[in-house]
Amino acid sequence: MSQTGIEWTDSTWNPTTGCRKVSPGCDHCYAATLAKRLKAMGSTRYQTDGPDGEGFGLALHPDKIEEPLKWKRPRRVFVNSMSDLFHPGIPSSFLDRVFEVMAACPQHQFQILTKRPTRMAREVSRLEDKFGGVLKNVWLGTSVEDQEWAGKRVPHLLNTPAAVRFLSCEPLLGEVDLSPWLDPDSLHWVIVGGESGPQHRPVAIEWIRAIRDQCLDAGIPFFFKQWGGRTPKANGRELDSQLWDEMPIPLDPDPSQRRLGERAWGA
Ligand code: SF4
Repeated sequence: MSQTGIEWTDSTWNPTTGCRKVSPGCDHCYAATLAKRLKAMGSTRYQTDGPDGEGFGLALHPDKIEEPLKWKRPRRVFVNSMSDLFHPGIPSSFLDRVFEVMAACPQHQFQILTKRPTRMAREVSRLEDKFGGVLKNVWLGTSVEDQEWAGKRVPHLLNTPAAVRFLSCEPLLGEVDLSPWLDPDSLHWVIVGGESGPQHRPVAIEWIRAIRDQCLDAGIPFFFKQWGGRTPKANGRELDSQLWDEMPIPLDPDPSQRRLGERAWGA
């Protein structure tokens, strides 16, 4: 099992590693920094260099695909904490195998977060046809760092067939008005956090409160992950003297979903 300090998940699963930066939210990508360190330590998963860093070239790990099938205890699984599942270099056939494993693991809830929601909408629509519906245990999200990227990404997320859709506004870099998209029937969770690391950029409490209040008004679960600073835990995660740990309610996968996954994997 891959342990994680990320508050909104239990385990990470990285069938691919490496990525390419696409927007200001990527500027201080923690995965790129960690990949460089892991390469230096000799980790075999991080020996491919890429345009955005040593050890951070895209690499597929077919031997990791079956990992969640071995985890019996139900858990939330963050898919590709060290990559982006919808990176253009990942073949559709590889995505098929990742989704087949998730179908075969109804005991887990899988959380996929991308900065490439255009491809996600296209691929997941194709997979919906393959599975005859959405996978109920797969949560699909996109990242929003400011108003410009909210406008570019959220409409594609809302066009993606999914049981649970979510936004991660981390690192939050400016004020964001999410109100045009806050319909609890189509958007089910919002995470907010400040940036961490040696070059962290500041976050304003007004930006965070504004998103929280928009979510409260709309009846959408709100999760405040961190203030950020030199480390993720440097300044805690209380907002107005309390923790905000709201989450969507997990859905039970249909028996037909499990059968499809089992047919693929014999799980
Ligand atoms: S999309 Fe995510 S993993 Fe890829 S460079 Fe940006 S922050 Fe890093």
